[in-house]
Amino acid sequence: MAATNLEILSRELPKVELHAHLNGSLSRSTMMQLKRYYADSGVSDQSDAFLDEFQIGAGDTRTLSDCFQVFNIAHNLTQSPETLAMATKLTLLEFQEDGCCYIELRSTPKDTPFMTCEEYIETIAVTLRNNAHLQIKSRLIVSINRSSSEKEADKIVKLAIACFKKYPNVVVGIELSGNPAIGRFRDFIYPLVMARNAGLKVTLHCAEICNPEEVLEMIQFGPERIGHGVCIHPNYGGSNETWQSFCKANIPVEICLASNINTKSVADYESHPFKEFYNANIPTILY
Ligand SMILES: [Zn+2]
Repeated sequence: MAATNLEILSRELPKVELHAHLNGSLSRSTMMQLKRYYADSGVSDQSDAFLDEFQIGAGDTRTLSDCFQVFNIAHNLTQSPETLAMATKLTLLEFQEDGCCYIELRSTPKDTPFMTCEEYIETIAVTLRNNAHLQIKSRLIVSINRSSSEKEADKIVKLAIACFKKYPNVVVGIELSGNPAIGRFRDFIYPLVMARNAGLKVTLHCAEICNPEEVLEMIQFGPERIGHGVCIHPNYGGSNETWQSFCKANIPVEICLASNINTKSVADYESHPFKEFYNANIPTILY
């Protein structure tokens, strides 16, 4: 089928991508290449049974929690330094192909059977540095999963700071993400402050689900950006207090309409709170 003018325009328009989870950005083609690499190296992987389920939007009964299960498939394919580097490079090239000129990739360092947390983050940072010649400019945001312990978060922040010192032109920030139904923001304030004091910028997944108390704590923390922000406005699970503090703080919000719909955070495009952000002149980044 021929591409429509809108599709051509959308691709050609120069874009920035500020909210791309590496393992959540792997295309089917990238995953197939990683599987082939594993097969050629004699490494078995358990992604077969799930691969058909992977594409977001494929199942209309999928919930936000299901999506976190689905991400395990991608994690399985990026367990070795070689496949992680391949995944990073292929993802960069795909974004470039889509007309993206600047990207901040984010990922949570993890210990795998084939590498340590340190090697994980180093592999991505080095791959981005080695691809600095590409037209697309790339940076790294180190992620903390909110279901991890304070001790793990502390370890990740120290790694992120070390990586930032080693690759100051690559690492730009730290972020808190993961299943919003698990963990408490307040338990991560100390490590996040440590990251901030070292010069890293902070972005937080905020208000993906209704939790006004936590939203206020996050706004008070003063991150450079927040992700999602679906449940801040009083008509969308927030309160007058959350909305007013948010408007006053004027924190840019990263909004992914398709993600919010596919994960059932909102029912459809018409009922997405984007219009509230737009009308209130909140700086928004669509991704
Ligand atoms: Zn996210």
